[in-house]
Amino acid sequence: MEPIHILEIQKTCDTEFIREVEAASGQQVRKCYQCGNCSATCGFTRFYDYPVNQIMRLVQLGQRDIVLGSRSVWLCAACQGCTTRCPCNIDVAGVMEALRVMSRQTETVSEQDVKLFYDEFLRSVRAFGRVFEAGLLPVYGLLSRKPFTDLDLAPGLLRKGKLTFFPHRIGKHREVAAIFERFEKLRRSKASEGGKTDGP
Ligand code: SF4
Ligand code: SF4
Repeated sequence: MEPIHILEIQKTCDTEFIREVEAASGQQVRKCYQCGNCSATCGFTRFYDYPVNQIMRLVQLGQRDIVLGSRSVWLCAACQGCTTRCPCNIDVAGVMEALRVMSRQTETVSEQDVKLFYDEFLRSVRAFGRVFEAGLLPVYGLLSRKPFTDLDLAPGLLRKGKLTFFPHRIGKHREVAAIFERFEKLRRSKASEGGKTDGP
């Protein structure tokens, strides 16, 4: 989504969105006074369409579509730097996490490759109880149409024993799979009640 510079706030402010973000994150986004510390700390600002302090401001202004469709929400690495530096003690990284979940639930994910990686990662964890990197990476590469990305790292990782050719299932992998099943059951039951239909 292209960054916007003028907002018609009276027309576009969705106050319900502000309430939803605060409820989902457990944070009082309204406390943010735009000091900019979070963006000054964030190592990913140059890749974002909106620096994280602007994401906070856009939430305060109830800009649901812009925030949930932004690249920033999905490029955030959840490093917690912004949370650590916020003078208002807002868990900014927690707000970003809540926004990712909402973006996923409303199917407004801007970075499809990130979504694809999450999906494949979780599929691997569900199958083996832990991630099987040598299986995940080729599948992700093919589905994202970037089959050669990071391929040059493989020989070094194999030499150091960080990659194995065969998956290793953890002892209690069925218990891990059961967590996924419980989540899906809950999701189906919420969907039948007219609630959310997707999750990260
Ligand atoms: S550091 Fe905290 S108060 Fe400052 S802009 Fe970021 S969220 Fe707002
Ligand atoms: S948690 Fe996300 S937004 Fe906050 S500093 Fe780290 S990468 Fe930036």
